[in-house]
Amino acid sequence: MLEVDLHSHSTYSDGLLTPAELVTRAHGHGVKMVALTDHDELSGLTEARVAAEARGMRFIDGVEISVSWASETLHIVGLNIDPLHSELAGGLSKVRAGRHIRAERIAADLERAGIAGAMAGASTYARNPDLLSRAHFARYLVERGFVKDTSTAFKRYLTKGKPGYVEHQWATLPEAVRWIRAAGGAAVIAHPGRYKLMNKDREAMLGEFRDLGGAGVEVVTGSHTVDQYATWARYAQRFGLKASAGSDFHGPGESYLDLGNLPDLPYGLVPVWGEF
Ligand code: AMP
Ligand code: MN
Ligand code: MN
Ligand code: MN
Repeated sequence: MLEVDLHSHSTYSDGLLTPAELVTRAHGHGVKMVALTDHDELSGLTEARVAAEARGMRFIDGVEISVSWASETLHIVGLNIDPLHSELAGGLSKVRAGRHIRAERIAADLERAGIAGAMAGASTYARNPDLLSRAHFARYLVERGFVKDTSTAFKRYLTKGKPGYVEHQWATLPEAVRWIRAAGGAAVIAHPGRYKLMNKDREAMLGEFRDLGGAGVEVVTGSHTVDQYATWARYAQRFGLKASAGSDFHGPGESYLDLGNLPDLPYGLVPVWGEF
């Protein structure tokens, strides 16, 4: 088992636990190095760091940036960033500003599908009003009994081609990598197995990311099957990228992997946290 977990969410984005609760849970599961990586948001980092250091853990400042690339949304995790760096903070505030208008459009689309009150309903789940996520809409759909759980909410709603999905322009890949590097961090492609890309597009993504100065790919994540660990380990080696590992924990009952339940990296990979 790894004592490292470099991908997690708190109530500052779409997680269910506060930063201190999250870190306490990670500590209880034997994690010695933990990163908080809220979507497009840095506000939870101070609270998480204080809680982690009080428990003798290494804390890594992180963020998960939403990126539009070709016709996909990619998530780029920034690790070991300086949360006070103005280029990163300014870029993220621009990305967050787009979320409110997207949420209004999601709610209007759901309304057309016969689901009323989604904007107000989702907002009650978002403790950070700047950071309305599809996960908050999913919780509202569960609450109202339209679906039995959040994963069904994404299957029937909120994903491409379904009611409640709207196209949105996030940051570009060069922007995200530039902001992370400017803030002294390492850029990592989050859960690459989740993107619907043909092999040639995967190669284009990895090549472009490496040429921009990207550091690594998440090989071990709650989003990957064991087969995908091997697939993305090979891509990392082929493109000379390091490897990261993180549960992507959002909360009890909402995530496939819990904090600190990660298997070791496949043999031969260079851990991105080696330099932290
Ligand atoms: P957003 O950034 O607002 O588009 O929301 C993306 C978030 O929705 C992800 O970070 C996950 O928390 C959640 N999500 C996306 N797809 C799924 C899915 N298939 N099942 C459960 N949660 C999902
Ligand atoms: Mn999320
Ligand atoms: Mn993600
Ligand atoms: Mn995530």
